Amino acid sequence: MDRTTTFLPLIAALGLLLSIPACTNDQHTATMNTEKTTSLFPLGNKAADSLFTGDAFVQPLVRRDRNNDYAAGAVTFEPGARTNWHTHPKGQVLIVTEGDGWYQERGKPAQRIRQGEVVVVPENTEHWHGASADSRLVHIAITNYFGDVNATWLKPVTDEEYAGAEQ
Ligand code: MN
Repeated sequence: MDRTTTFLPLIAALGLLLSIPACTNDQHTATMNTEKTTSLFPLGNKAADSLFTGDAFVQPLVRRDRNNDYAAGAVTFEPGARTNWHTHPKGQVLIVTEGDGWYQERGKPAQRIRQGEVVVVPENTEHWHGASADSRLVHIAITNYFGDVNATWLKPVTDEEYAGAEQ
C-alpha cells in the first residue's frame, strides 16, 4: 500500500465532511422560511362558532385590569374565516402580524389588510375582519371597554358579502 492509497479514504471522508455544511445550510434556509410564516403567539382556543365563520382561534394576551381598560388577544383566521358583523363601544385597534385579509365597515368597500398594517376601528361602527380566501390572517386585537362591554355581536358575514370583498 503506497501513501496515495492510504490517504484515499481520508480524502473521501474529508469530502463527506465538506458536503455537510452545504446540506446544513439548505436546512437552515428552510427553517428560516418556516419561521417567517409562524405566528408570534400560540394559536389559542377555537373562537365561538356563534361569533365567527370558519376556523378562527383566540389567544388572550392582556386581560382588563385596574390600569388597562381593554382586552388584548392574538386572533388567527384560517383562509376564508372571519368575524360576524359587530361593533365596539369604545373602538378597537388591530395590528396585523401575519398574512393578509380584510377589514370592512358597513356601507364601505372592504379594505385589504396585510402583515405590518394597523387598523383603528372607530366606536359604534359596524364592521368585520378576517382572512382572505387564500391566506391565513393573524392580528393582535386591542379592544376597549365601556362599562363591562367591549363588543356587540351581530349577524354572520354571508358568503355573498365575503365574496364581494374578494372581488
Ligand atoms: Mn372588531
